[in-house]
Amino acid sequence: MPTANSNNAATPGDDSDLMPRPLAGRHAFVTGGNRGIGAAIAWELADLGANITLAARDEAALRHQSQALSQRGDIAVTCQAMDLREPGSISEGMAAAREELGPISILINNAGIAPAAPLAKLELDSWRETFEINVQASFLLSQAVLDDMQRQGFGRMINISSTAGLRGYPFVAAYVASKHALIGLTRALALELAKEPITVNAVCPGYAETEMADNAIRNIQQSGKTEAEARAILTRGNPQGRLIQPDEVAATVGWLCLPSSASITGQAIAIAGGEVM
Ligand code: NDP
Repeated sequence: MPTANSNNAATPGDDSDLMPRPLAGRHAFVTGGNRGIGAAIAWELADLGANITLAARDEAALRHQSQALSQRGDIAVTCQAMDLREPGSISEGMAAAREELGPISILINNAGIAPAAPLAKLELDSWRETFEINVQASFLLSQAVLDDMQRQGFGRMINISSTAGLRGYPFVAAYVASKHALIGLTRALALELAKEPITVNAVCPGYAETEMADNAIRNIQQSGKTEAEARAILTRGNPQGRLIQPDEVAATVGWLCLPSSASITGQAIAIAGGEVM
């Protein structure tokens, strides 16, 4: 067993964060890494030197992203097709990733879905699926990597929640409830693991420029709005009046993974231009 916080904090005189590749040799497992915010996070962690496993369902997109990352030539990259709704698929994908790139020291629970429906039309299957992907999979993956992190004396669990984990929005009750639950999971695990060399944090983007935001724009357009009007509805919640870029989320995730971020745990950090404070 590791001693409390062994190898976790940057100690005085430890310049590991100043090295160009402070995560060299670390294995980062990124769900939803085949596109959007997850792909940006994978590139950021690769820039910091981590070896990367990308996990999602769409195998062609996974292969495309992992080939692009592999072309850097300075890190190992693999991908695992898995369906996060299925506990068996999660454990198989995890085992295969560990087999290929070794024990996991960074877990990014990024994959998520955001179905929209008014309360009267929100179906139980949709509610269940949202919780399976946005919350249950994060719990199962956190459980699956715990032993690896304890044995290595270093672990970073990062849950990509949302401003919807910090405040309400109409017509996305399942999403808002699931993202609040993900922050609850983050806070509970951060306290449970506080004496171990593992931090657990949530990152909470506002509307970001990805397929998920494109879908939200299409949903708003169904009420008769133009694309420009729909986009304006999404951006007006952000005091900076814009969509968040995936790279901005990725930069915060990369910072949380650094050895010097060892005292930051249990936080839910908004990347939202001041939308929540
Ligand atoms: P995208 O819709 O672009 O990507 C979602 C990712 O999740 C895809 O890689 C998808 O891969 C994966 N995924 C979905 N369902 C499953 C499943 N059953 N099993 C495995 N993987 C799955 O989303 P974003 O990049 O925009 O969002 C990433 C995260 O950021 C999400 O958790 C989202 O809630 C959060 N977020 C996004 C915001 C935004 O405005 N975009 C704002 C705030 C938070 P595949 O379909 O191949 O399985």
